[in-house]
Amino acid sequence: MCKSFLGLLSQKKTLLFLLMCLFVHAFNCVLFGIIGIFPLSVLNIFSTIFYILVLFLFKRNQDFYIVFTYFEIVTFSFLCDLFTAGAFLYIFFVVGMVSVIFYLLPPKTKYKYIYQAVGILYAIIIYFIIVNKFALFPDYAPLVEACKNKIILLNLGITLFTLFYIANLYSYELNTTNEKLVYTSNHDLLTGLFNRRFFEHIMERNKTENESKYTISIFDIDDFKKINDTYGHQAGDAVLKVVSDIIEECQSREYIPVRWGGEEFIIFMPRTPENTAYDYLQALCEKIRKTVVEFGPHKIKVTVTVGMCTGSVLSDYEIAIRIADDRLYKGKKNGKNQVVRE
Ligand code: GH3
Ligand code: MG
Ligand code: MG
Repeated sequence: MCKSFLGLLSQKKTLLFLLMCLFVHAFNCVLFGIIGIFPLSVLNIFSTIFYILVLFLFKRNQDFYIVFTYFEIVTFSFLCDLFTAGAFLYIFFVVGMVSVIFYLLPPKTKYKYIYQAVGILYAIIIYFIIVNKFALFPDYAPLVEACKNKIILLNLGITLFTLFYIANLYSYELNTTNEKLVYTSNHDLLTGLFNRRFFEHIMERNKTENESKYTISIFDIDDFKKINDTYGHQAGDAVLKVVSDIIEECQSREYIPVRWGGEEFIIFMPRTPENTAYDYLQALCEKIRKTVVEFGPHKIKVTVTVGMCTGSVLSDYEIAIRIADDRLYKGKKNGKNQVVRE
């Protein structure tokens, strides 16, 4: 629930950011109108119109909206502080945006550092406006003084909320990207099974552990080339997907299903003696045999040949694979569609 909410926020990040800016400006426009600081109210009217136009033209996944918004915010903050000698500390927005732009734009965005440098320059200029108490509209000083503390609190609150929100969203996006990367490096993308690289990696890592009896089996789809040649490559892919879905069910027994290559699969069965493995593999082959793959108007029947080998020392798993492969070859020569255990 929380993840899907964060996913939605991440997907709509730019739009939500624009809406938030529109809301803040529209609110400020009314607020300064009521207080009577009209230059700020007018400035906010311009910004509100700017965001309405941007939202009206908004199209998804376009980074320049973020860039526009960034320059609007830093310029707006600069002008606000220029009007009031920095009494409301709009410099918070500039400091906040210099950090936020880093997260909102994709890592490789051109000129990102220049945008940040411009923001830093704005902040330095505002600093001098504040220390020199320079105000473009000094007549409003009494009104400004009267509401100063509350507006500073509001501006601090908006800045902190934005930093909190964007930083957490960024961390969520980073985590999901990492999870996707780990998945794609461990899995075969067509079938969703583990890939060969991952299997070899875990076997190498666990080599030194003294497992009790384990069984390795290699599956090879029979006459798969004929399926491709008769019904097309996509039909072949559909068959691979159906067969791998059946093979994948072995995970409920804590077996490890792997796409070994082309139309070959491995099931690694830890702590599984030969008889248990044989019965299980027979049942699995029977299930595949009974399955009809529907591809368009075609109904495709498919069988597999399996070679298996039981071993007791994990460090010899490569030998077990070779023996299983030899048995698979034997099964192919003996008419296919069978499980070979010796
Ligand atoms: P056998 O019964 O002896 O195993 O014969 P076979 O036709 O299954 O085996 P062969 O090695 O002659 O052909 C395997 C074919 O699998 C060749 C290759 O084009 C096809 N293939 C490999 N990977 C894929 C894939 O990802 N998708 C599809 N559609 N075909 C694939
Ligand atoms: Mg093959
Ligand atoms: Mg084959």
